[in-house]
Parts: sequence; structure tokens; C-alpha cells
Amino acid sequence: MTCPVCNGNNTGKIGGNTYYCASCLLEYEENDGKINIYYIDPDGMPVSLKNTDTAQKLVSTLQDDEQLLSWEEIRPR
Ligand SMILES: [Zn+2]
Repeated sequence: MTCPVCNGNNTGKIGGNTYYCASCLLEYEENDGKINIYYIDPDGMPVSLKNTDTAQKLVSTLQDDEQLLSWEEIRPR
């Protein structure tokens, strides 16, 4: 499955409908054609991301080690 965030193929299936992208370090889950993206925080807790735009910004943030987004912006309201 192609990663919905980076469109790369560096992904692996880790569960029923759950996949992991080694490039983005994100997990995503497919449900009835809808994709939920999760970031696993340093405590091992999955944080649900609003959409792929948010996930892409988060990945840039993690890769550049810059704080582009606050958690308030990332989490769904
Ligand atoms: Zn990816």
C-alpha cells in the first residue's frame, strides 16, 4: 500500500487494516476507504492526526526538528 502522506512505498502491514510508513514514522489505518493517520508519541501513545496535510507538516516538523505545529493544531477538535 502506498503511504497516504509521502506517497512512498516504504510501508509495511502491521495489523488487520493497519500499516506503518518507515519514511514518515507514522501508522495509518484503512476503514471503509477512509484513512486514519496516527503518530506514535514518545510515550508510545497513538495520536490521531486530523488529515494528510497535518500529517505532512508533522513529518516535516519531526525531520527538521522544528516546532512548526503545536499539539492543539494537530489534534482533531
Ligand atoms: Zn510515508
